[in-house]
Parts: sequence; structure tokens; C-alpha cells
Amino acid sequence: MSTASRELVVLLPGDGIGPEVAEQARLALAALAPEIVVDVHPIGAAAIRATGRPLPDETLAACLAASAVLKGPVGDPEFDAADVRPEQGMLALRAALDTYANLRPAVLDHVDVLIVRELVGGLYFGEHGVREDGTVYDTCEYHPRQVERIARRAFRLAQSRNRRLTSVDKANVLETSRLWRRVVNELAPEYPDVQVEHMLVDNAAMQLATTPEQFDVLVTENMFGDILSDLAAAVTGGLGLAPSASLSDGGPGIFEPVHGSAPDIAGRGIANPTAMLRSTALLLEHGLGRSDEAAALERAIEAAIVSTPTQDLGGTATTAEFGAAVTEQLSIDERAGAPYGG
Ligand code: NAD
Repeated sequence: MSTASRELVVLLPGDGIGPEVAEQARLALAALAPEIVVDVHPIGAAAIRATGRPLPDETLAACLAASAVLKGPVGDPEFDAADVRPEQGMLALRAALDTYANLRPAVLDHVDVLIVRELVGGLYFGEHGVREDGTVYDTCEYHPRQVERIARRAFRLAQSRNRRLTSVDKANVLETSRLWRRVVNELAPEYPDVQVEHMLVDNAAMQLATTPEQFDVLVTENMFGDILSDLAAAVTGGLGLAPSASLSDGGPGIFEPVHGSAPDIAGRGIANPTAMLRSTALLLEHGLGRSDEAAALERAIEAAIVSTPTQDLGGTATTAEFGAAVTEQLSIDERAGAPYGG
């Protein structure tokens, strides 16, 4: 990979509040590392309006050539009943980049959970359709190799943290869950320093809501991870704060907030850009290997949450005011000569 391609970020602002929070991420990246090239492309409803397709060829080609993709949320009520929908662009992008490992950290006070969600398999990617009698179906399928690669990623992440791994499934009912549990158990002896437990998904939801501090790394399949990570976000401060990193084996990752396009507040300039900014920090760390800048951005975000809270945090700040507080803090750090990551 050339130096130039290592420094190319494709920014997909997306829909609803996406462009509003994406602009703050762009400004923060420019303040931290102006040498990074940021290339903006449409996805989702914005892309359907511009080209008729939720993931235009130009957008996909740019993402494939980038070192990392920073994505805003997609989705627009206007297309809810349409055949061509914004979310199809997001699923197609995840599949094309094979970003199978979705990391969703949820941190607040004494809670520090990392949810590792399988992202390109299961119910969201299985065969679906309508039978002649009107029955509608979706199917959930997993190949052992798909389970193995996400489980290995989770074991390694547990090794880098508190060495506890909770594998979540519904093995009392589902075949795919029994496969999931078997594969995790077969791999466990290769990671003897990691303590593994299995938990049924309904119990995991209750435990996450009541005693989230018990978890270190939690690994699960696509749909369970989708739901549990929103729950984890809710118990650690709300959707506006939760970032994610979707990683492949070697190709560009996709870094995006957990929240959606929030049509109810879009266009009002009041969205909290924290999740998008934290996703930018994950991009700097995992996508570009710039840990020092990632840590500096994290610190600036924490400071802005305290000094300049948006409405969802009980404050009155606008999206732009929060973003300005972040870039201001970054420039204070720089003027003080604090090395990024210091
Ligand atoms: P949502 O996350 O957009 O909104 C849920 C609630 O949280 C809303 O009240 C919203 O105002 C609030 N909220 C979300 N982000 C916020 C932020 N940054 N600051 C302040 N408040 C915030 O979920 P939804 O309403 O279920 O979905 C809306 C659309 O987003 C749908 O079309 C859905 O398909 C899409 N969606 C996209 C993604 C994605 O692109 N990754 C993820 C989830 C939902």
C-alpha cells in the first residue's frame, strides 16, 4: 500500500443528521491531520436521489481504493416502502469490503464493554422472499468459517483487554447458535488465557441492562449484536455517543456511528456529533494507525461533553458549537505543546 493510499479517507455523509455530524468530523480531521485527503461521496437516500442507486459505482470504487471509510447514517422515511432503499447501500458496502467484524465499544464510569458483532452474515444476508401463499421469510445461515473468523477476532481482542469473553447465542433453539457455540468451544483451548462463558441472548439483554459492568468482550451474531449494541449504547449514555468500527482482514474498514439518520431532528443543527467524532477516533486508531491523534481526539470529545453538552445530554449546544469546542480543545493541546497521546 502506498503512503498516499494510507492517508486517503472516503467520507460518506449519508442522510438525515448524517451531513451535519459528518461536517464536524471533517473539521476535526482537518485540525488534527490536515495532510489526510478526505474524499466525499454520496450513499443512501442522497445517492438514490443523485443517481437512482443507494451505492453508486463511483462511491464503491472510491471506498475500495481508500485506506478507511468514515460513514454517516443512512435512511429516509421517504423510501421506507420503496423497492430501492437507502439501507441497501450500507449492506452492500459492508459486503463488498467484507467488514465482518463490527466493534462497538460502550464505556461509561465503571462500564467498559466491547461488543463484537458479526456483520456480513446471518439473517440480514440470508435468502428472503415471499412464497406463493403469501408467507414472507428471512433465513439465518452461518458457515463454520464465518463463525471462526469473528470468534478468533474476539478472542484476540479479549487478550488485549481483561481476558474475559462472553459468547451470546440462542443455542437452546437455533441450529446456527449451536454451531456458533461449538466453534467458540473448539477455539477456546488456543486462547487459554481467555476465560470464556456462553450466555443466551435473552439473558444477555437482561444482564446488559442491569449489570453491564460484568462484561469485558461480548461476541455474537449479526442480529443479536445489532440489538444488544443499541441496548449497551443506551445504558452508557445514549445513541448519540456510540461509535463503531467495522473491520475486514486487511482491506479498508468502515467507521460509523451506531445511531441512525434521526429524521425527527434532521436539519435543525442540534444532533450530537459525539458518535461520529468517536468513530473518527476509531478510524485514526484502527484505520490509519494514528493512535496518538486518536487519543487526542478522544480527550477533546470528553472535554466538549462536559463543557458544551448538546440537547440529548441535557445541554443547549448546537452540533456546530459542540464541534467547535472539540477543535478548540485540539488547538489548545497543540499550543500547549502536548504531544498527541501525551
Ligand atoms: P435513530 O438512531 O435515527 O434515532 C433514534 C432516536 O435517537 C431519535 O429520537 C433520534 O432523534 C435520536 N438520536 C439518534 N442519533 C442522535 C444524535 N446523534 N444526537 C441526538 N439524538 C440522536 O433510529 P431510527 O429512528 O430507528 O432510524 C432512523 C433511520 O435511520 C431509519 O431509516 C433507519 O433505517 C436508519 N438507521 C441507519 C443506521 C446506519 O446507517 N448505520 C443505523 C440505524 C438506523
